[in-house]
Amino acid sequence: MEQAEMVLDNIRICEEFGTPLFVYNEDKMKSQYHKFVNAFDVPALRVHYACKALSNINVLRLFKDLGSGLDCVSLQEVQLGLKAGFKPEDILYTPNNVSEDEYKDVIDLGVKINVDNLQMLECLGVECPHVPVCIRINPHLMAGGNRNISVGHIDSKFGISIHQLPLIQRIVNSLNIDVEGIHVHTGSDIIDSEIFIKAAELVFAVVEKFDSVKYVDFGSGFKIKYKEGDLSTDIDRFGELFSKVFIKFSKDHNKDYELKFEPGKFLVSEAGDFFTKVNVVKQTTSCTFIGVDSGFNHLIRPMFYNAHHEIENISNPNGAKKVYSVVGYICETDTFASDRLISEVRTGDILRFKNSGAYCFSMASNYNSRFRPAEVLLSNGEPKLIRKRETLDDLLRNQIY
Ligand SMILES: *Cc1c(COP(=O)(O)O)cnc(C)c1O
Repeated sequence: MEQAEMVLDNIRICEEFGTPLFVYNEDKMKSQYHKFVNAFDVPALRVHYACKALSNINVLRLFKDLGSGLDCVSLQEVQLGLKAGFKPEDILYTPNNVSEDEYKDVIDLGVKINVDNLQMLECLGVECPHVPVCIRINPHLMAGGNRNISVGHIDSKFGISIHQLPLIQRIVNSLNIDVEGIHVHTGSDIIDSEIFIKAAELVFAVVEKFDSVKYVDFGSGFKIKYKEGDLSTDIDRFGELFSKVFIKFSKDHNKDYELKFEPGKFLVSEAGDFFTKVNVVKQTTSCTFIGVDSGFNHLIRPMFYNAHHEIENISNPNGAKKVYSVVGYICETDTFASDRLISEVRTGDILRFKNSGAYCFSMASNYNSRFRPAEVLLSNGEPKLIRKRETLDDLLRNQIY
């Protein structure tokens, strides 16, 4: 589609559904999924979409229809996945610091479980002896002082330390636990494929300790560009190199391991746009603020992670560029962007925040008693409302008065 046509379409969508509004492009999610899958050349690959990135049930269904599995971090995400039609065995539950009761509820649903502490491993081994488990390892990829791989550090709360391998083995052997998978998700940036693969070999050393292992899950860490100059994962190159290493490992052990990944951001970030309307253009002595009909209650990433979202004025795409600070309506510091060059902005203009598919709506709240935005899915170019805008009843639900 032509750029100008797309801008018109977006304005029409905002007129129809109102702002603030999230719009997701189904084609983009599909093409990212295919790009991901096609990057690897291994006998058995399974992608589990990490649904905490964007958990609207229509998006879950879309990934199910593409053949994806699901990565869930809570009982409620598991329940949403089942409602969306995922088979229990296609869901992997990877929580952190949850209760034994929640684990048991998920086990009762037939979902695959990932255990991330020794206490739970021991407990489940005793109480649910026939349930196969996956074990989440923290490989401390920081070892070696590599600043490209920065999470999974020694004091991270996730996973069981790789240094505790002897203890894991002792528990597994004494209780006869069926370890069907080994998992790592460090959140590390996969920017330099070679270095990541070197680190992955630490994980292989764990896998070979357990004969029962059927799959190895490398989590995620796939980066996308938020702005010009950002580093991102070259997925084709990573897939090619990683596939070779993985196949060699399988061959050396005479076993067809299944390879799993759990991308979230990679699949949905770029498919999403967030549209807000300009309420006020406010000149102060030091800068020009643009105040929009939204805030960090809807898109917290800039305030929370100092994340960068490109912002375009789709109502005046050819206007002269000016320097602005884009801020929200929350009664606290609420900055989306500082000192940005944006086409001249007037009251009533619509701003587009790019890369708003992942960790935007799913982190939205009702702070300041504001309604959360509506969500629209663009399917074959047709906009379809997939979440209604909230009303006062939603704010009052469960309040006793
Ligand atoms: C959040 C999460 C992911 C997805 O991470 P992205 O950066 O969105 O790709 C994958 N696996 C687990 C266990 C997670 O917690």
